[in-house]
Amino acid sequence: MSDLLANLNPEQLLAVTLPPQHALVLAGAGSGKTRVLTTRIAWLIQTGQVSPQGILAVTFTNKASREMLARLSTMLPAGLGHNARSIWMGTFHGLCNRLLRTHHREAGLPQLFQILDSADQLAAIKRMLKTLNVDDEKFPPRDLQHFINAQKEAGHRPHAVDVWDDYTRRRVELYTEYEAQCQRESVVDFAELLLRSYELLERNEPLRRHYQQRFRHILVDEFQDTNRLQYRWLKLLADEGRDGGAWLFCVGDDDQSIYRFRGAEVGNMRDFEREFKVSNVIRLEQNYRSWGNILDAANAIIRHNTDRLGKSLWTERGSGEPLRVFEAFNDGDEARWVVEEIQSLVRDGMSRADIALLYRSNAQSRVLEHQLFSSGIPYRVYGGLRFFERQEIKHALAYLRLIANPDDDTAFARVVNFPTRGIGARSLEVLQDAARTWQGSLYASVPHLAGKPGTVLGQFVRLIEDMRRDTRELPLPELVDHVLDASGLRAHYKSDKEGQERLENLDELINAAANFVAEMGADGEALAQPHALLADFLAHASLEAGEHQADAGTEAVQLMTVHSAKGLEFDAVFLTGLEEGLFPHENSILERDGLEEERRLMYVAVTRARERLYLSFAQSRMLHGQVRYNLRSRFLEEIPEGLTKWLSVPSARGRGAGFGGYFEPSRSPRVAAAPSPAQPSRDLGGLRVGQQVKHARFGQGVIVAAEGGGADARVQVNFGSAGLKWLLLAVAKLEAC
Ligand code: ATP
Ligand code: MG
Repeated sequence: MSDLLANLNPEQLLAVTLPPQHALVLAGAGSGKTRVLTTRIAWLIQTGQVSPQGILAVTFTNKASREMLARLSTMLPAGLGHNARSIWMGTFHGLCNRLLRTHHREAGLPQLFQILDSADQLAAIKRMLKTLNVDDEKFPPRDLQHFINAQKEAGHRPHAVDVWDDYTRRRVELYTEYEAQCQRESVVDFAELLLRSYELLERNEPLRRHYQQRFRHILVDEFQDTNRLQYRWLKLLADEGRDGGAWLFCVGDDDQSIYRFRGAEVGNMRDFEREFKVSNVIRLEQNYRSWGNILDAANAIIRHNTDRLGKSLWTERGSGEPLRVFEAFNDGDEARWVVEEIQSLVRDGMSRADIALLYRSNAQSRVLEHQLFSSGIPYRVYGGLRFFERQEIKHALAYLRLIANPDDDTAFARVVNFPTRGIGARSLEVLQDAARTWQGSLYASVPHLAGKPGTVLGQFVRLIEDMRRDTRELPLPELVDHVLDASGLRAHYKSDKEGQERLENLDELINAAANFVAEMGADGEALAQPHALLADFLAHASLEAGEHQADAGTEAVQLMTVHSAKGLEFDAVFLTGLEEGLFPHENSILERDGLEEERRLMYVAVTRARERLYLSFAQSRMLHGQVRYNLRSRFLEEIPEGLTKWLSVPSARGRGAGFGGYFEPSRSPRVAAAPSPAQPSRDLGGLRVGQQVKHARFGQGVIVAAEGGGADARVQVNFGSAGLKWLLLAVAKLEAC
């Protein structure tokens, strides 16, 4: 046991060994929060204070929970280590899924319910709007999706939504319709997983009591990013702090709250302190991760935020090397530089797996990937090209989902004519009408059809029925293999010139199934029911989306967005694309909250590095089919000069000195050429700052800034939902209005 506690500092030791009570550890990046949480679980078990079954632990990603379980198995003595698996550990979604599967009847769900990821959810909403003949210009599917999820995350079923106008009333009706559709199809979206299991616990007292008594300790990592409903869910299980419920141990960092845009509430920390009468807020201030310069830069950046609980970090390690800054001519140039630096790090003995390449938006990865690939450097995109979200995988999963649950209309619509089998839009319309008339799923409505639609769709139904029959006895990997052939997917991609990679991915799905079975352990009962196991596998696929590929064997450079880097650490970190509009993201710049959230994201990014931090930006960049000329990020300016070393000569186009812009479209050669810096002038062809204007593509907007003159005159326009854009007047054809 002394081994377990040997390397902790006094505050960490205090936190790990706290007697049973509600507690909050509030501490900055790299101060050992996750380590404290893991060690506390081990300590509680090892000292016999609780059995593994009595612990519920919440992590932010599936990867984090796998890593934590692996650590625990090594921390605990052999006998106990095996039991680490009986800890309920996972993300909120994973844990809710487990609860709903176990008590599906009480929750009003079939055992084999399917999970809709957010792309599936959007498809389901679009399909619903179409069936109901709703104008999707008036009710854009994405808005509706956002509305529904926000309501669910606030714990509101349709009847509980505040209706303040006709538009909202209509949206609430659509929310009701959407719920009915999901129930008919036996599918559950991410927000529903949470709300449904919350309601289950809230309404079913015996069940709630059971879990309240079972879980003695609930531990939550990354607490700052929990949303309201998740907090209420925790409160239910902990019996709101009354006797008999579990003890809640939360760790978090308000400076790393980066999901407020998705409803995360830092206020949960304050409420937790108050409602659970937390007398012990433990602060950890020593950082064990990064060299001093990196830490100083992080502290300097986050100090620009006003909305903070306030804390700072120090380290015993020396200052280390300066942060290296590179200004590239363009994005390709930046990628080449990154690759050269990586090659030199690897030559000096650094493992590729300890190098991370971070960027603000997924779209930025492509150029980096291209360069890495051309240079033969193994790399892995983590969370980006999501394995389970690739087209061919989604097709295969849709067949599997239909086997598990024929009423899943989203899956049905996806593959009914893929690979093509002559089922046209007309037949599907007839089918949808029938489904409406008979109030059934698409699948169940096929027998009601006559004529050609009845024949072709009947064949499809028979295909699925055959698959179901033929796979009833097969182990999961063979089941998947069978479906890949029987569905015609393999043959389809074989005949496709560019299908090789897709075929490899399909094979990888069989591996994923095999791994899943292995991870489940040799549970004879589960293995004896292949179709129930299939439903578990499909749930796993929906929950895992994307985290899969980053784990597999070979030593590879890791690419990911800053969001997915939360909680991780690497020897060397490249933070690319540090440009205004990119990072901070253009949608955030106008709002204080938005900008502060971007800054927290920057803080997360910087604090991922242990030894070396590289910061880069490009004078011009091709993104979304446009060439953009951006100023370098304000976050770079917030780093004290003494901490950085420029690898390139800073150009005259520093912040404020020169020229920043957002240009379009790239098809115009005049725009793609780098314009020369020009002095600001008021020669704007009759336009002025503050003026309302109209643009053919972006619609109405207002001019917020102007620069340059003559042929180079450019203005920045806020187009509301279309965002802030820099436009070259000579090209953009703005109309005053
Ligand atoms: P983040 O906010 O980024 O999630 P964190 O607070 O969870 O960070 P950890 O990831 O737990 O921090 O720890 C950061 C690093 O410091 C890890 O490599 C961890 O093993 C190491 N570490 C933590 N505490 C100690 C300690 N007392 N002695 C040595 N190393 C430590
Ligand atoms: Mg952590």
